[in-house]
Amino acid sequence: MAATYDAIVVGGGHNGLVAAAYLARSGARTIVLEGRPKTGGAATTEAPWPDAPEFRVTRLSYVMSLLPPTIISDLELDRHGYKIFPMGPYYQAFPEGGSIKLYADDAQRNHEEVSKWSKKDADAMPRWDAWLAGLADVLGPLLLTVPPNLGSHQARDLAGTLRLAWRNRGLDVRTIGDVTRLMTMSIADLLDDWFESDQVKGALAVNGVIGTWAGPYEPGTAYVMAHHSIGDVGDGHLGNWGFQEGGMGGVSTAIEAAARSFGAEVRVNARVARVLVSGGRATGVVLDNGAELHAKVVVSTLHPRTAFLEQVGREHLPDDFAADIDRWKTRSGVVKINLALSELPDFTADPGSQLQEHHTGSVEMAPTMDYIERAFQDAREGRPAARPFSDGVIPTAFDKTLCPEGTHIMSLFTQWVPSDWSAEPHTEELEAYADRMIDCYTELAPNFKASILHRDIVGPHEMEQEYGLVGGNIFHGELSLEQLFHMRPAPGYADYRTPLPGLYYGSSATHAGGGVCGIPGWQAARAAIADRKASRRTSPLRRVTRRA
Ligand SMILES: Cc1cc2nc3c(=O)[nH]c(=O)nc-3n(C[C@H](O)[C@H](O)[C@H](O)COP(=O)(O)OP(=O)(O)OC[C@H]3O[C@@H](n4cnc5c(N)ncnc54)[C@H](O)[C@@H]3O)c2cc1C
Repeated sequence: MAATYDAIVVGGGHNGLVAAAYLARSGARTIVLEGRPKTGGAATTEAPWPDAPEFRVTRLSYVMSLLPPTIISDLELDRHGYKIFPMGPYYQAFPEGGSIKLYADDAQRNHEEVSKWSKKDADAMPRWDAWLAGLADVLGPLLLTVPPNLGSHQARDLAGTLRLAWRNRGLDVRTIGDVTRLMTMSIADLLDDWFESDQVKGALAVNGVIGTWAGPYEPGTAYVMAHHSIGDVGDGHLGNWGFQEGGMGGVSTAIEAAARSFGAEVRVNARVARVLVSGGRATGVVLDNGAELHAKVVVSTLHPRTAFLEQVGREHLPDDFAADIDRWKTRSGVVKINLALSELPDFTADPGSQLQEHHTGSVEMAPTMDYIERAFQDAREGRPAARPFSDGVIPTAFDKTLCPEGTHIMSLFTQWVPSDWSAEPHTEELEAYADRMIDCYTELAPNFKASILHRDIVGPHEMEQEYGLVGGNIFHGELSLEQLFHMRPAPGYADYRTPLPGLYYGSSATHAGGGVCGIPGWQAARAAIADRKASRRTSPLRRVTRRA
């Protein structure tokens, strides 16, 4: 006999766990099916070195900012172990000497730091921060908004569009202009409008290219910067990021504990092979061992290609929707390098391997915009970057749970290798790429290379094969303009529902994703809960088409 639930969640990444927690909290008998031996997906803490199990790394994602306070409090995550250490400043040491630190919350010190490179830029900094804060006031609430079904003539969709327009009626011509600039410009052009110093612009460009198959001169990268700058870690400092105690797996563990506390069942080593379709709606799933589970609600949180084209099948999908998913852009060229260190980097510009403030935030390798652009151009031309860009962090500056006392973990989020490296392991080339990355840091901190005890390199192929991140894209799909808001994952289906009644979609490939923000999982659960309630009141809800 097939097991029957009210709701099945496919994928135990953080979004799947959030969806399960809300569904279980609403009274639905809920199960999460996770294919790997552990939950968390890209928010995971692992011990990658069998000979040194005392070192644990936050293997893929590494910093928190985007999880909204509503989800934290609804799920009582603090009670379940959600604990964030706000991180220190952005830090870049320069090959030509000197360094810069940028603080999320200290205008005076920012002024001093930026003045080292340009007095004019230092004076512009408070205006830049205020400008970004103003845009965050507009964009922040949009992250929690279900995108309207633009172009639809159905009354319910028109009402949604009007509601959104009404809520934003306070916006003036200037703000709309600023939002338009932000959505369409490159981060390089935007920063050129504000600043003159290469060093300052390099530091500020980092957020514009994180996880992006685009260099800083590509239109749309200004928005990527905003996406990474409008969260906070609950401490009220806009754009601040933090480290979860125990690594990002700690976030997933806290959400899983919340889901279980509401009664959800979480099953690992449970790989879903297909979504069951009967009578034109989703009715459950079949696992790769042949076991069937049935439910009226199925929430998928997998990459859209897997969720729709592999697990549902084109034969059950409208042709234009299947074509949209076929065309979905899902490249990154990201390589994550996790290191165990015997001591902290001793930078020539800021000497000492004892813990100092510049070790507590991002330890960047992005000295100028041109440096970042060169790394991208190498990959676009089909070669791994000769001098890769890196967003580095040392979570053990705060978190003492990840490694033995006196040692440290350093996590390097690096770019770029060619986007098609997801098709093959490229093991030796990745080793050489990691060597070059390490050499770049060693030029700035001469003790760095010798301090490395262990290293773990995760390239696009492993991201796809082991974690289901198709194409190695870190967000289940690029944050390019044509894949945002009402287009994410496809026009007509940005409301966390799908062409198949009973199937909901809550992965990072929906609006507000990616990142460890939980919003897609939350929204998918809300849609399913609303439809369950409606179907109890009326005959079963039938969605003939969303694109009318
Ligand atoms: C290298 C890297 C660095 C990043 N850094 C950050 C960061 O610092 N901060 C941040 O906010 N975001 C970061 N991100 C992005 C963020 O981690 C992701 O957007 C987010 O974790 C995705 O969550 P998800 O639940 O939507 O999907 P996933 O985490 O991908 O979860 C999907 C789950 O489904 C499972 N699965 C796959 N196939 C099946 C199947 N057939 N049956 C059952 N289960 C299956 C997978 O094993 C996985 O557990 C990073 C991502 C990467 C890869």
